Amino acid sequence: MAKEVSPGVLALRKVVDDVHADARKAKAEGKLVGWSSSKFPCELAAAFDLDVMYPENQAAGIAANRDGEIMCQAAEDLGFDNDICGYARISLAYAAGKRAARKFDPETLEYIIDPNSGKPLKDENGKVIIGEDGKPVKDPKTQQPYTVLVDIHEIEALPDGALKDKYWESIKPYRQMRIPQPDFVLCCNNICNCMTKWYENIARMCNIPLIMIDIPYNNTVEVHDSNVAYVRAQFDAAIKQLEELTGKKFDEKKFEQACANANRTASAWLRVCDYLQYKPAPYSGFDLFNHMADIVTARAKVQAAEAFELLEKDLEIAIKEGTTTTPFPEKYRVMFEGIPCWPKLPDLFKPLKANGVNVTAVVYAPAFGFVYEDLDGMARAYYKAPNSVCIEQGVDWREGICRDNKVDGVLVHYNRSCKPWSGYMAEMQRRFTADLGIPCAGFDGDQADPRNFNAAQYETRVQGLVEAMEQNAMNKEG
Ligand code: SF4
Repeated sequence: MAKEVSPGVLALRKVVDDVHADARKAKAEGKLVGWSSSKFPCELAAAFDLDVMYPENQAAGIAANRDGEIMCQAAEDLGFDNDICGYARISLAYAAGKRAARKFDPETLEYIIDPNSGKPLKDENGKVIIGEDGKPVKDPKTQQPYTVLVDIHEIEALPDGALKDKYWESIKPYRQMRIPQPDFVLCCNNICNCMTKWYENIARMCNIPLIMIDIPYNNTVEVHDSNVAYVRAQFDAAIKQLEELTGKKFDEKKFEQACANANRTASAWLRVCDYLQYKPAPYSGFDLFNHMADIVTARAKVQAAEAFELLEKDLEIAIKEGTTTTPFPEKYRVMFEGIPCWPKLPDLFKPLKANGVNVTAVVYAPAFGFVYEDLDGMARAYYKAPNSVCIEQGVDWREGICRDNKVDGVLVHYNRSCKPWSGYMAEMQRRFTADLGIPCAGFDGDQADPRNFNAAQYETRVQGLVEAMEQNAMNKEG
């Protein structure tokens, strides 16, 4: 039976679908479409009614659709180093015109099915049917063509006709593989400095303007007034650049409305995140990861605020009725530190489910809850991204979440893509155990490039964490 989807989740899905559809429509109508880093102040672009797409979110979607490797490899073939963040590699390949596509025969224009793809065919009793070769027979309805790389510039150069049309059609039909090429880029390096070089490269490659807001790493817990003034001046410069780009005057009313929407969305999102504090939790951190697309791509839109408020209502009902989306009884509660391995979500989930481990705290999701009251507050809020705050603040944040969400342990993703995040995790792990008395386990992985994840190592680490949590619980009881 198909799982019932709550009204809030349905509304959130529609918000993201609409953001993508609007951007495609704008491009088709000859309007400007921008690409933006996820923590660039989106309120500025909203004041100009600009359609904006978010390459980090796009790369996560491409990775979750299992095309991260072919796109990362395409970037490496263009000369970008394998050590660069996987999101950046996917986005740079996309900006260069590379796309993951379904292989077809240029003579017959028929797709060529990959015999290794698809799910096993089952009989009427649900048993997997085994073929004469002793292997499970594949359900033909679930089989897919081979994945190949195509280049939109090469397709554009083909003569008009059926072959050219087939090439366009062959590009994978999911929305992240169909976002329009950018006319300008908006970059804020409050996340990391890889971002700066990544966006500079897109701007150069596509010969388009780059609007940059520099928010450097903050060594102190407080954001000093001089830092605020530095960022405020950059807001003014960005507004000027946007005026030149669009030929429109900055619309203060629209800006204020966008700020109000962004605050309403962020507040509702943080309240949704807080529902993980219930024991047992009405959902899991994996559900929050699924809603990241909304908070990244649509936080200045009123529809996003309304959808998160609807989700809050769903969660309130879930608490009253004692239901949860987690398909197993919650035995242990852990914080998942870092960005998930999007291409490997089922592998991440499997050993957790087998051991009754629910992810009831995440750091990545609430990091998008920018709440502020005025322009100075807005500048301060954008200083508070996970990789731009000092270690004391980083430890404090996480320990607060661990306490509030009542976790028994911490699972740390040493993400090969995200060096600034992974770099200080060893010290953080030490502090969590010393301050909170909870065990931590780390595993190696990558948010986008599946070549950097090993399921066997992950399972072993989860097993180790479960044993340590079990021992901890016995010690407490004793
Ligand atoms: S913060 Fe990490 S994951 Fe995000 S773009 Fe920078 S390196 Fe990549």
